[in-house]
Amino acid sequence: MVKFLCDGMLGRIARWLRLLGYDTLYSSLSTDEELVRLAEEEERVLLTKDVELYRHALKSGVKTLLVEGNDFETMLAHIIKCFDILPKINPESSRCPECNGEMQHIPVDEAKKLKLDIPETTLKVYKDFWVCKNCHKIYWKGRMWSNMVKTLERVKEKVKASHISNFDNPQ
Ligand SMILES: [Zn+2]
Repeated sequence: MVKFLCDGMLGRIARWLRLLGYDTLYSSLSTDEELVRLAEEEERVLLTKDVELYRHALKSGVKTLLVEGNDFETMLAHIIKCFDILPKINPESSRCPECNGEMQHIPVDEAKKLKLDIPETTLKVYKDFWVCKNCHKIYWKGRMWSNMVKTLERVKEKVKASHISNFDNPQ
């Protein structure tokens, strides 16, 4: 499975690629040199909107994609199309959007037993929870989830739409 490294401008993209199950690093602090070196060392595809950084990565023999689009949804559609990513969030394989950690599924009964920090009302409504093995953040299919599903529907339409059909293949 392809692994990604997002440059400093693509933080939101990084969160989404993690939700879609892709091992994705993001750093807003790294220099171009550091980003290219990290992509090389960890065999990650460098995603960027910066032409200079893109050229630098190409010259260094690092796999890279110059992300097209002026808005977040078009950018995500571009990446999904280029890497043939299934535009569907499966919490079983999602990574933590905050830290890229792997997630563990916790059924509600277990969540109660473990006394996880989840509001009582939430425990009454939801049956499944996911805990990040790294930062321990807890997720469930709440209001954010339905927003995410709607966003993905729009992204899927963009993937299908003709005006973004002429994507270059990643180098
Ligand atoms: Zn985490």
